[in-house]
Amino acid sequence: MFHPENDEKYKGLKVNKGVENAPIVSPYLKKRKIRTYTAAEYVEGILKGNMTMLSQAVTLVESSLESNQVIAQEVIEKCLPHAGKSIRLGITGVPGAGKSTSIDAFGMHVIRKGHKLAVLAIDPSSERSKGSILGDKTRMEDLSKEDNAFIRPSPSAGSLGGVARKTRETIVLCEAAGFDTIFVETVGVGQSETAVHSMVDFFLLIQLAGTGDELQGIKRGIMEMADGIVINKADGDNIDKAKLAASHYRNALHLFPPAESGWFPRVLTYSGYYALGIDEVWQMIENYVAFVKENGYFEKKRNQQSKYWMYESIHEELLRNFYHNKTIETLLPLVENDVLENRKSSFVASAELLETYFGKKK
Ligand code: GDP
Repeated sequence: MFHPENDEKYKGLKVNKGVENAPIVSPYLKKRKIRTYTAAEYVEGILKGNMTMLSQAVTLVESSLESNQVIAQEVIEKCLPHAGKSIRLGITGVPGAGKSTSIDAFGMHVIRKGHKLAVLAIDPSSERSKGSILGDKTRMEDLSKEDNAFIRPSPSAGSLGGVARKTRETIVLCEAAGFDTIFVETVGVGQSETAVHSMVDFFLLIQLAGTGDELQGIKRGIMEMADGIVINKADGDNIDKAKLAASHYRNALHLFPPAESGWFPRVLTYSGYYALGIDEVWQMIENYVAFVKENGYFEKKRNQQSKYWMYESIHEELLRNFYHNKTIETLLPLVENDVLENRKSSFVASAELLETYFGKKK
């Protein structure tokens, strides 16, 4: 083969013929298509506890594609009669509080007791990792190896309402698939706690001792939502500090009006990392469930939550419909400009847009 470098003067630098590359697209291989199923097939798979079907159905729930949503809604509708028979636990705490470590520890405890656990997350802020910082399998090392655990990251970033709705719908699918314990995790930095609170039976707040601002959460009203406050990292030199923090929280809780549940929130210390005090925390949750089932609050709260979600769905659908209306879509930037340039007041502008919208509807 001729090659300038094969010239006698470059002896020892012989360039050999290379191997032939395989064609990029092999004519013998068919492009692999991901099989999609009918709503009835998904439902059948989910009810049998088929994890692949469950995962795929959750993907449909999370999809914003209209055609996927049609199937997803039908699957949810058919799964609903089989859902609801679980304990739903909301878990919150600032980043670094030890949520992943604790979920791993609590989760393993629950699984050892013979339960099936789904770990979901709500993290609408997580643009940086497209919603995967929470619920990421690598963060829950032990659980991720368990057949009886289903771990799903937060639906990708979007409006809080949208993300929360998807998680709530995912709960229905998981319950229909036989998961009797659901954890919904959220990062304690915003409004997402309220969303999680509106879909769980028990709300657990993970706190740390000695971070300066002793009573974290008190300002943002998160403590009022908590049914239990747990001080993590009560291990080694930190035990006394954790106990002290616990007593501060206990005192602070007395300042709040009594909860509608009739339950007085407990404060416990534990160590997620060393798995110390896990049983006590779980016992507290079981005590709560028994207590509110006995006094009727369990059912009442779930009914209130269903009502809340009905209105949430209405609000969301109305907004979506309005902003996707063709006339509104064209008119909106023009009217917005009028407002920005002081040609119209914001009230006149909104009234005009709404009249156009409702006029079209009539
Ligand atoms: P998250 O951001 O709330 O999910 O917190 P992580 O679970 O990732 O924990 C944050 C850090 O705290 C990690 O370095 C953990 O190893 C550590 N950590 C978590 N739980 C404990 C605990 O019980 N004791 C101690 N000493 N460290 C812990």
